[in-house]
Amino acid sequence: MPDIAYVNGRFGPLADAVVNIEDRGFQFGDGVYEVIRTYHGQPFSVGPHLARLERSAEALQLSTGHTGDQWTSLIHEGLRLSRFPETKIYLQITRGQAPRDHPFPIDLTPTTVLTFREFHPLEASVRNVGVQAVTIDDIRWGRCDIKSVNLLANVMARQRAKEAGAFEAILIREALVTEGSVSNVVVVRNGAIQTAPEGHRILSGVTRAIVLELAKKEGIPVSETFVTRQELLAASEVFLTGTTVEVLPVVRIDGHVIGTGSPGALSQLLARRWDALIG
Ligand code: PMP
Repeated sequence: MPDIAYVNGRFGPLADAVVNIEDRGFQFGDGVYEVIRTYHGQPFSVGPHLARLERSAEALQLSTGHTGDQWTSLIHEGLRLSRFPETKIYLQITRGQAPRDHPFPIDLTPTTVLTFREFHPLEASVRNVGVQAVTIDDIRWGRCDIKSVNLLANVMARQRAKEAGAFEAILIREALVTEGSVSNVVVVRNGAIQTAPEGHRILSGVTRAIVLELAKKEGIPVSETFVTRQELLAASEVFLTGTTVEVLPVVRIDGHVIGTGSPGALSQLLARRWDALIG
């Protein structure tokens, strides 16, 4: 079962896939992307992911050049060819190929890339115990709602987390928690759930939206307001949401124990509701 790539109209082995070095994705990080995973072999929440891809592209005056139906059939064709038990589907659109210059020609043909690789979920033991995180200054640009391939600040933050033996870097801007380097951050305080509001400071996570709905259905109060780093460390529970992490409890941040040091009741409840949702 091979890793598969699609580049500008053609499927083939991922190892053989190439784009030109004058592609603006390579030169400037001038592009947008999405990551979609399968459950039971079926791509999950395709509609919200594609809607976010369109929003990201539009914000950069970039056209994806594909309708929702065209994306969906590319996704299904890739899954048919790769045939993994579970797949991580990566979609990327860059502005295309042009001689290197900051302003872009408006008539460029975008470069379309999809990759299909086997998805390996986190071990149950990691979920049951919870993970560690570190806090790091959020030095990203002012449009974190755009899912751009320009990920240098996220890359450096996650690397620092890894070097500190932690799973995630929780980003702090002007003393407020924005999100993780690859996830949204949710805290539990006084029995209520609190997470950063949608806007330019965070990526509006597909998982975040679903988990907030699950919480409301359980009658848990939800507040979309920023917490400070101090409130984060004093929270009774903290968890991450994201396509690859799902609902993942955080039990230690910067060496401080969160709550009891084990996944808390609401985190566990929402993780169970998530499992029920994906069947
Ligand atoms: N924030 C950032 C910075 C991310 O990279 C991700 C992963 N896409 C998320 C949040 C979570 O988003 P989603 O639930 O849509 O995967």
